[in-house]
Order: sequence, then C-alpha cells, then structure tokens
Amino acid sequence: MNIYDLTKTELENYLININEKKYKATQIYEWLYQHRVKSFNEMSNLKKELIANLNSSFTMNDLKIELVQESKLVKKFLFKLYDNQYIEAVLMYHDYGLSVCISSEVGCNMGCKFCESGRLKKVRDLTPHEMVLQILLIEEYIKERISSVVIMGIGEPFDNYDNVMKFIRIINDPKGIAIGARHITVSTCGIIPKIYDLIKENIQINLAISLHAPTNEIRNKIMPVNKVYNLSELIPCLQEYISKTNRRVTIEYVMLNNVNDTLDCAKELVHLLKNMNIYVNLIPYNETNNIEFKKSSKDKILAFYDYLKKNNINVTIRKEFGLEIDAACGQLRSKRGEQ
Ligand code: SAH
Repeated sequence: MNIYDLTKTELENYLININEKKYKATQIYEWLYQHRVKSFNEMSNLKKELIANLNSSFTMNDLKIELVQESKLVKKFLFKLYDNQYIEAVLMYHDYGLSVCISSEVGCNMGCKFCESGRLKKVRDLTPHEMVLQILLIEEYIKERISSVVIMGIGEPFDNYDNVMKFIRIINDPKGIAIGARHITVSTCGIIPKIYDLIKENIQINLAISLHAPTNEIRNKIMPVNKVYNLSELIPCLQEYISKTNRRVTIEYVMLNNVNDTLDCAKELVHLLKNMNIYVNLIPYNETNNIEFKKSSKDKILAFYDYLKKNNINVTIRKEFGLEIDAACGQLRSKRGEQ
C-alpha cells in the first residue's frame, strides 16, 4: 500500500490497529503534505518503532515525471506509472491562481466520439495516490502551490468513483494539501447513480457535466453514455443535485462544427436548462487527428453565446490553453505511443 492512498481517517485506523495514538495521523500528514518529506525516516518527531512500522507497511512515491512541455501559461506533464503506463496533467496559470487538470484513469471507456482519450480504452483505474502525486510532483517541479484542481484529464472520474472521492478527501484535508472544496471540480459525462452518490457525500466541491448536446438524438450520436443515461433522467438528477446541495452546476458544451452549434441547438439548450441554477461553459473544440469533427468558427460560438445570454442563461466561453503543446485532452499520451 502507498501512504498517499490513505485518508486521514484511514491512517488513524491503521495507527489504532498497531496500538499507536490516533493523533499521530496528523503529524504524519503534516510531514507528507506540509514538509513534503521523501522518506519516513525524516519524520523526526515519531518514535523509531513507528517509523519502522511505517517503512514496512507503506511505499511512498512510485510516479515519475517523464516529460514536461512548457509554454508561457501552460505546462503539460506526462507521468510514467509503476507499470509503465502513461497519464498526463496540465497546469494552467490563470489571473486568479494556478489550476491543475488531472487524470483519473489510464484511458477511458466512455467512448465520446470527439475525444482523444477515449480512443485509448481504459487500462485501469488510477489509485488515490496516483492522483495525489500528480499534484505533489507538479508543485515540487514549479516550486509553487496550486490553488485549484479540476478532475478533467484522461478518464471518467465517476467510473472510478471511490478512488476519486478518496483523492478529494485527501487533498481537501486541512492537514493535507488543504485545497478548499470550492476549488475542486469534478467533471463527468453523466453517470447518474454516482451523481446521486455525490449528493450524499455532503462536500462542497463543484460538479461539471459534459452535456455537449441539447437533445438525445444529437447526444446519442456523439456520446454513447447517453444510451444508458439519457437526458430525460440526467436533467431531473441535476435538478435534485442542485436543490439538495444548493450548488450551481457547470454545464460543459464543446462546440463542434455543424453538430451541436446551430441556433436551433441553442434554442433547445435554453429550453432544456431554463430555470436551473447552472452556468454553461462553451468549450472551443481542440481539433485532433479525428477528421470527423471540426471546431466551430468564432462567429458561430459568439452567436450561440449571445443567444444563451439573451435568454437569461449564464454563459462563458472557455479560454483556450495549450494548443501549441498538445495540452488538449489526452493528446500527448495518445501521441506518445499507442501502448
Ligand atoms: N470524462 C469526464 C472528464 C474528462 S473529459 C467528462 O466527460 O467530463 C473533460 C472534458 O473535455 C469533457 O467535457 C470532454 O467532453 C472534453 N473534451 C474531450 N475532448 C475534447 C476536445 N478535443 N476539445 C475540447 N474538449 C474536449
């Protein structure tokens, strides 16, 4: 087991099991996440016996930065995992701070037609520590602290729900990396049962939904998940999420030329989302090798934006980052080799 897999409560239980005091979990967390030590032997306020126990029970870092591609506002990290798999994370410099987009799985099984990550089927889930270490290694590399985390890299987080929730609890812990829940966003293509589970977690993180289409007809064509969890169940589910959590939901809508970007689509989207506490984030499509999909023109995006705005839908257009360094959505890993 890797030490970064453990929530503080799990670490406390481990300590109780070996007849240690539970408060030592806080000390260990401080060593790991505040002092960032690289070995248990450096935890100088712990007794030798406990250090020996930790050494025999846990491993530490097994993730390596393989490659970094840098431009002014973006750094893209390719990580090598212990089993020689690759994942990626993207660091973005915003006016309001640094955010990092992390991966939750090796590959993805959702099969969204326009998405590069989905071309590489899921190999396995990421463990909590593999998500935590993406952040720790990036912070070590840039020698700065990250202020927000989005789980929008490779993978479908709700297809790896338990590990993702553990990861969130670890980075959110005040004695951990201490990233506030409101600075953590999880993005899903709409795995409905897990959205209901999230309601019960009672945590103030942000939920983003990859909607990408205003009707089942269009959504079925680009997102196979819609054949299982379609809009007539997804919308009521989101309504319940919003009313129970009192949180606004982000609706992601990637603008694909002549697929979902017409004014008719805008009209249907307004109809679908009216009176909901949401905001729509229009995402300029990052073109990939897949020639089936092209990005919408700036004019079309603006017309779509205007229509939503006029009809009282909160809407923004996502800033484009990192096109020049393959920072978009699984492209680096995908180019790296179809391993
Ligand atoms: N599986 C999750 C999270 C990972 S994908 C989800 O579906 O939300 C993160 C976001 O990037 C999703 O909204 C996805 O649809 C979008 N995306 C995928 N490929 C893209 C591309 N080439 N250009 C722009 N956005 C893309």
